[in-house]
Amino acid sequence: MKTEFVKISVTDGIEKYTDAAKLLKENQVVGMPTETVYGLAGNAYSDEAVKRIFEAKGRPQDNPLIVHISELSEIYDLVSEVPEIAKKLADAFWPGPLTMILPKSPKVPLSVTAGLDTVAVRCPSHPIARNLIKASGVPLAAPSANISGKPSPTKAQHVYDDLKGRIPYIIDGGECLEGVESTVITLATNTPKLLRPGNVTLSQLKCVLGEVQVDDAVLNPLKKGEKVSSPGMKYKHYSPVAEIVLVRGEYDNFVEYVNSYRGEKVYAMIFDNEGEKLNVPYIEYGTKDYKTLSHSLFDSLRELDKLGANICFVRYPDENNDDNLAVLNRLLRAAGFKVIDV
Ligand code: AMP
Ligand code: MG
Repeated sequence: MKTEFVKISVTDGIEKYTDAAKLLKENQVVGMPTETVYGLAGNAYSDEAVKRIFEAKGRPQDNPLIVHISELSEIYDLVSEVPEIAKKLADAFWPGPLTMILPKSPKVPLSVTAGLDTVAVRCPSHPIARNLIKASGVPLAAPSANISGKPSPTKAQHVYDDLKGRIPYIIDGGECLEGVESTVITLATNTPKLLRPGNVTLSQLKCVLGEVQVDDAVLNPLKKGEKVSSPGMKYKHYSPVAEIVLVRGEYDNFVEYVNSYRGEKVYAMIFDNEGEKLNVPYIEYGTKDYKTLSHSLFDSLRELDKLGANICFVRYPDENNDDNLAVLNRLLRAAGFKVIDV
């Protein structure tokens, strides 16, 4: 299959979306930018489109998809009821990087929800994603546009690297601002529960909701036989070919540990301007601020593979700061929970 790669800018008119919208109406799939990561979009009402999404990514069949809408009003077709707290959250964070899980309406096919009676819904803020939803006339199911298990794509080129020949069309809308996937919260339980951290932070959620539980799987590996609240938590995720090892501790101890490690193709991932004392090559992945770290995280992990790294030691973000939950959650999974204390 030939993969078209088309640049669209946020100021372009709706006519630019004609080809992509036509493909979506034919139940084909399209790579699209969002403010979180690139998504692989398909008509959420079509089993055929949903099947294509799963096939192109090699996604495990039991991992449900997030459905994307362009306006809050479109949620009423997708869920059986919109509780007051969902309206409050939408008011505070939509359009934006927050996904809410609610009981699904009969209109949503079980292929999208992997058989669950709940559906994940998000209204993205990226103008290109919203224009594409409007142009296609249907809600778009869209997981991250990567091969399952690899780091998520934050540039159109990442989508092309993973999915060329497997999907017909990619919209290049530039780099994703946030760089990590949306915050996922379930409202289908008695107390709202954070299932996946993102850049709508826990403290922001608490400001609106008061109490918010945090699922154990956010920062911990699943115990054997443990039931998951969100099927996506089961899988190895976000992983480059290079082995990722998180190193927790003071900067000088990090440097001493890495410099004395004996091996080939050893790399470090560090905070900005920390490279001076290191005697291995390194990638800087941001200041200690969570926004800069999340923005560069997946691109940095993908860069390691381009460099042919065997192993990479990563500076551990401050775990006492809840704003870092999203970056920590992705790094822990990329590392298969390997953490060394120094
Ligand atoms: P991705 O498509 O890569 O952004 O991942 C979507 C995440 O949302 C995965 O972790 C899914 O398991 C989770 N998810 C989607 N729908 C549901 C649902 N109905 N219940 C629980 N988790 C869900
Ligand atoms: Mg994903």
